[in-house]
Amino acid sequence: MIKHLSIAISAVFFVVVLGSFERSASPNPLQRATLKTIIVDAGHGGHEPGTNGDYSTEKAVCLDIALKLGKKLEQGLPDVRILYTRTTDTYPTNPWRADFANKNKGDLFVSIHANAMPPIKHTKFIGYRKETYYTGKGKARKKKTRTVPKYSVYYTPNTRSGTETYIWAADRADEKGEFVAETVQDSAEFVPDINDPEFKAKSLLWTKKHFDKSLLLASMVEEEFTGSGRTSLGVKQRNWKGIWVLQATGMPSILVETGFMTNREEEDYLNSEKGQETIAENVFTAIKRYKATLEGKQQPNSGIQKEKKDLLPKAVMTSIKNK
Ligand SMILES: [Zn+2]
Repeated sequence: MIKHLSIAISAVFFVVVLGSFERSASPNPLQRATLKTIIVDAGHGGHEPGTNGDYSTEKAVCLDIALKLGKKLEQGLPDVRILYTRTTDTYPTNPWRADFANKNKGDLFVSIHANAMPPIKHTKFIGYRKETYYTGKGKARKKKTRTVPKYSVYYTPNTRSGTETYIWAADRADEKGEFVAETVQDSAEFVPDINDPEFKAKSLLWTKKHFDKSLLLASMVEEEFTGSGRTSLGVKQRNWKGIWVLQATGMPSILVETGFMTNREEEDYLNSEKGQETIAENVFTAIKRYKATLEGKQQPNSGIQKEKKDLLPKAVMTSIKNK
């Protein structure tokens, strides 16, 4: 859900702020290509439930899936350190999540969320009613009646379904700033000097450095979902007008919207053992493929580009270009 984006983006925002100077010293963009540490982030938690379905909360679904994903990563990639922003029903603040990822030198930040859509509003004509109104002033004031149409308003659940994986992007500066207010609130504890040329240059460098990797992994995640019969809504990117620093990421990072809490069928899937297992397996397989791709490259400057073209489904690339 949109709201959740601000959380993860704020998290990345702090990663950038806290980590950019330390790490930007690396001259080779893929020098840290090996995955040593993965941060698994279960969205929301504690007093912040995220979105609600008919009978369950996003925070609980996120945690279940994140823990299953983490377990698969621990077992399947024993040479990689797996760290969790939370393992129980708590709410780590966004700065804390980012600081945690940064302090532990995360090579990848994977945030697990579930989506939501507002109910669909319907307006139905149900007849006419008499309405009283007045004309004139003082002694000339007269009471009159007229006939006006009468409507009933009702809502039906939004049946939108499917998965989508978000990455943060730098190439869409004209995007509407629809999430800005929320983000400002979230990041109120730290206000960077966005006019500092040195900071700006480094952050933009970081964006470029991590964009390809984030896109590669995000595409693989959506491919895996599709392979399991899910409807993929694609890889999506958001930009935040007025807060350019959010265009940069401190490490390759993705936010996975695993399904819609507001679609009863998907809510059931998200809460089922089979559904959670499958989602965790999909993301795990994508991370394994991503890791293998990074490690297989002998020429880091050109390899990732070639690999990306080979692996990205055309639909995904089209979706990205048309956004
Ligand atoms: Zn969320």
